[in-house]
Amino acid sequence: MRTPIIAGNWKMYKTVAEGRELVRGLLAGLGAIADREVVVCPPYTALYPLGELLAGTPISLGAQELFYEAQGAFTGAIAPQMLRDVGCAYVIIGHSERRQFFGDTDTTVNRKLFAALASDLRPIMCVGESKPQRDSGQAEVIVTAQVRAGLAGVSVAQIANLVLAYEPIWAIGTGDTATAADAQAMHAAIRATLTELYGDATAQTVRIQYGGSVKPDNVDELMSQPDIDGALVGGAALKADSFLRIIHFQ
Ligand code: PEP
Repeated sequence: MRTPIIAGNWKMYKTVAEGRELVRGLLAGLGAIADREVVVCPPYTALYPLGELLAGTPISLGAQELFYEAQGAFTGAIAPQMLRDVGCAYVIIGHSERRQFFGDTDTTVNRKLFAALASDLRPIMCVGESKPQRDSGQAEVIVTAQVRAGLAGVSVAQIANLVLAYEPIWAIGTGDTATAADAQAMHAAIRATLTELYGDATAQTVRIQYGGSVKPDNVDELMSQPDIDGALVGGAALKADSFLRIIHFQ
C-alpha cells in the first residue's frame, strides 16, 4: 500500500513569524495522522526556524528548490547538504514555475534529482502540460516524456525515495482543477511509464501526487482515485484551516 503524502508548497509567501504561526496552527489541529504523511515547503528564509519547530512532530520539512552542485561560486544558490543541515527531508524539483521563470529543463531537473538523492533528500519531481498542449491532445505524450527524461538513470533502488507530482500548468493557482477522471487518467499513464521503466511491482510502490488548485472541496474526490496518492498544494496550504481539511481528506 502507498502511504498518501500531502505537501504544502508555500512558494514566495510567509515571513518567519507568519510561518511559525501557520505551523503552530497545523500542529494544533493535526491530530493522529498515522496513515498519511504531511510535508510543508516554506521559502528558504524560514526553513531553519521552522525546522526547529517541526523537529519531533509528524510534519516533515521540505524545500522548494536546490542547486545540483555541492558547493562553490554559485551566487544565490543553495546546495543539497545545506537543506539537510536545516532539517529538510524533501525537496520539490522541476516545479513549473521553476521551469517557466528560472530556466529549469528536463536535464537540470535530472541533475538536481541525483544531487538530492546523493544527500538523502527525497525529491518531489513535478511534471505537467500547458493548456495548449492539453488542448492539442499532447498532454500524455508531453508528461510521460518529462517523466522519462527526469528519471533518466534513476535505479529501482533510488525510485523508492522519490515522489512524483502531476501538476497541469493550467490548473496551478487558477482554481481550474483537472477533473478527478482526467487526473486519474494521467496518473495511470505515469504509472504505466514507471512500469515500463522499473517493472510493475516497483511502479505500484511509487507515490504520485496531484497538484493544481487542490482545495478542501475537491480533495476527497481526487484522493478517491486509485492512482492519486497525495496532493501538492499551493494556495490552500497557506492557511491552517484549509490545509488541515486537505490533510484530513476522507
Ligand atoms: C503548486 O504550487 O504546486 C500548486 C499546485 O498551487 P495551487 O494549489 O495554488 O494551484
